[in-house]
Amino acid sequence: MSLLKNLREQLDRKAISSVELTQHYLQQIKTKNPSLNAFITVTKDHALQQAKKADDIIQQGKQTFLTGIPIAHKDNFCTKGILTSCASKILSNFHAPFNATIVQRLEDQGMIMLGKTNMDEFGMGSSNENSFYGAAKNPWRLTHVTGGSSGGSACSVAAELTPIATGSDTGGSVRQPAGFCGATGMKPTYGSVSRYGLIAYASSFDQAGVIGKDAYDISQVLTAMAGIDENDGTSVKTPDDLFTQDLSLAPQKRSIGVDMQLLSQLDSKAQALLQNAIEVFKSQGYTIKEIQLPDLHTAVSTYYILAPAEAATNLARFDGVRYGFQDKNADNLDSLYTNTRSQGFGNEVKRRIVIGNYVLAASQYDAYYHKAQQIRRKIFDQFAALYQSVDMVLLPTTTSCAFEIGAQKDPVRTYLGDMYTVIANLTGAPAIAFPIGQLDNLPFGAQLMANNFQDYLLTQAVHHFQQHTDFHLYDSDKQKGVAI
Ligand code: GLN
Repeated sequence: MSLLKNLREQLDRKAISSVELTQHYLQQIKTKNPSLNAFITVTKDHALQQAKKADDIIQQGKQTFLTGIPIAHKDNFCTKGILTSCASKILSNFHAPFNATIVQRLEDQGMIMLGKTNMDEFGMGSSNENSFYGAAKNPWRLTHVTGGSSGGSACSVAAELTPIATGSDTGGSVRQPAGFCGATGMKPTYGSVSRYGLIAYASSFDQAGVIGKDAYDISQVLTAMAGIDENDGTSVKTPDDLFTQDLSLAPQKRSIGVDMQLLSQLDSKAQALLQNAIEVFKSQGYTIKEIQLPDLHTAVSTYYILAPAEAATNLARFDGVRYGFQDKNADNLDSLYTNTRSQGFGNEVKRRIVIGNYVLAASQYDAYYHKAQQIRRKIFDQFAALYQSVDMVLLPTTTSCAFEIGAQKDPVRTYLGDMYTVIANLTGAPAIAFPIGQLDNLPFGAQLMANNFQDYLLTQAVHHFQQHTDFHLYDSDKQKGVAI
């Protein structure tokens, strides 16, 4: 049974109260967070208050599926009156004046916020090492990265500091850390979940997502988060069952496309894990079809032109005047801007701002930004054509498993590590990452993608997969698999 279903049953039977459940997770955080660094802020008093309210609601029999269940939010979602730092020095004193729509919607369902999780500064990174608060540590091996940028969320789910967590995914930030930590993570279709109150990195790519133990739990939380929001002009009206349609049905002869040539370029152990995953899908009635994916290196270049361009624009608001960190020694407006931004942003964020402004410069615009927009459209069309012949596409989530903290110094190599994830953001498509085994005792994940607004195909397929495998139940405390 899924973790959330299990907790729901226990809460409904009054075998445990929400206050007790919240105390359990707060204790887990207290014990393990000093070595994991997964949380930036723990909202203990707030959580216990919310849990008391949830217990009253349960007492009255008015609970929903999520009432009384704890959750952690990535620190780039605005939380009213609570530090919302984006893991940046520039926002290290910013207490948001309102709740992000998703935070509010989950609170309205009676979920309990345990705190705010660590991340790469403003979502820029793939290892959580670009955090003003230091890297989160991989619970499978503390010397290794969690992945990023939602590293704290993935880590806290894997190490059971929270049953479930939110994340945001601009180029893979929900799926990649889920892959590195052995969790399941989903980026829904662009527009299906409001971005209001999600501090912007690259607005045409950013999407809120969820990291949990399995696809079932994720489908429930995404359902509560999703839907049109008048505060986000790109949000759309979605069917209530976008993530749950067919979830309880047996597989219905759906097809999964696999690029065999791409698979053959992977290391042999990774190939074997993917081959095994393919066999599991086949045994459940899914048809595997051979496909050819667009060039993924081009996709990475396109992403790393467009995302920094949008970031340079979005981050222009952090100037020391309106909110956040401010340099106190400046004696004129120009030096206030320069000093605040020089001291307030970390190196990777500065690199992105420089790249972004360069590709947007009048002299470079046609060669970079405009060309990248055209390629983005082309990639979108190529995927649309692919979905004429298959329902879903199976890929690895990452090019390797988690690497050692400090080991990856070359930013371009790091960017290339995002090649399997950025395509979903370039096309707006839904994608879900799920564990398929281990490489050298570290988790390794696969990813399923589908056409826009077919999110339910993904939750259903991974739910089926997880009913027949136990990779998602592997336990980082025990350092090995547990039986189903
Ligand atoms: N690693 C990618 C980047 O640094 C993706 C980050 C994200 O999805 N927020 O841009």
